[in-house]
Amino acid sequence: MEEEFLKNRAWAELNLDNLKHNIEEIKKVISKKTKIMAVLKANAYGHNLVIIAQKLNEIGILDFAVATLDEGITLRKHKIKGNILIMGYTSIENIKYVIHYDLIQTIIDEDYANSLKKLTYLSKLKVHLKINTGMNRLGINYQNYQFIKDLYLNKKFNILGIYTHLSTSNSQNKSAILFAKKQIERFDKVINNLKNDKINVGKTHLQSSYGILNYPHLKYDYVRAGILIYGLYNDNYTYGKINLNLLPVLSLKAKIVSIKTIKKGEIVGYGRKYVAKKEEKIATVSIGYVDGYPKNLENLNIKVFVNNKYALVIGKICMDQLVINVSHIPNIKVNDIVTLIGENKYIKAEYIATKLKTITPELLGRLGSRLNYLVVK
Ligand SMILES: *Cc1c(COP(=O)(O)O)cnc(C)c1O
Repeated sequence: MEEEFLKNRAWAELNLDNLKHNIEEIKKVISKKTKIMAVLKANAYGHNLVIIAQKLNEIGILDFAVATLDEGITLRKHKIKGNILIMGYTSIENIKYVIHYDLIQTIIDEDYANSLKKLTYLSKLKVHLKINTGMNRLGINYQNYQFIKDLYLNKKFNILGIYTHLSTSNSQNKSAILFAKKQIERFDKVINNLKNDKINVGKTHLQSSYGILNYPHLKYDYVRAGILIYGLYNDNYTYGKINLNLLPVLSLKAKIVSIKTIKKGEIVGYGRKYVAKKEEKIATVSIGYVDGYPKNLENLNIKVFVNNKYALVIGKICMDQLVINVSHIPNIKVNDIVTLIGENKYIKAEYIATKLKTITPELLGRLGSRLNYLVVK
């Protein structure tokens, strides 16, 4: 679509050179034999599933992880090539779509495996086994070795991989590291037992983004890289043992649509939340909380960036609009572009997520329901 149309109101700009750069950065620190499985769940963390997947295909990434069946089907309908692993639950009734769209299902626990075994039509269903090594969210208990081995011997399954997930990979405190090491040991034991029993275990994987940053020496077949490929850390506090030179892929933008001057004592917006202390110039911006700019920011002294200056968000954030104080920006005019999430310090995704007491995957994963996406590089 025409650029001006996409920029009509509120949009996300994607810098796909930065996506490529982040992939290269990750490759520098993981073992030579390890491949990147790009995690694309939640609309590629709000970055647009199809655009991100197409670019990754173009630069040679052929392994993907999603959370849901729908996400996998969307990728196939857009001709995305390679392996697509569904990490979450797919109902037994819908396994036929996993087969039809050539997806890979995770066997999420013992009960799920048993339900699948009852499907009479099943033959060599492509799966990865998830092993519960202590996180207790999903997975077959690591101690159920015979159960795991029997799955490998079952003709109904084509087990292409086996994986687990760390509970404490983002922490560098001693007891967190001890716990992660325990999980790694448990996982390795399952793999070694299978190998000793002459079973082809398939691809192994354990690290997500902070697993890469804090345990870069591990040599499994894949790393499941999510937030890092989008060029972000979780928040302003959580970095890793090693540093990557990450570049954020997304910026969130909107437009100045109306400018007015209000007098001392006049109010702005719902509930008279903001009262002008002196004469002020204010501007209405074409983005609101349903676009994914959280309403809670109205209580957190948050700033946006416009014409090379920060401007404070004032009053309550509305569904489709918000208001900023532009008294200090003399040349401001209608149609000027406002950046709400971007590279400057006080509008970085990490900074905003930290203010909200959440993490960047939530902030960005909630974007998108009404945004346009524009590839700029
Ligand atoms: C979401 C998810 C990932 C990716 O996590 P990041 O921290 O974003 O890298 C990896 N593995 C599993 C099982 C996940 O659910």
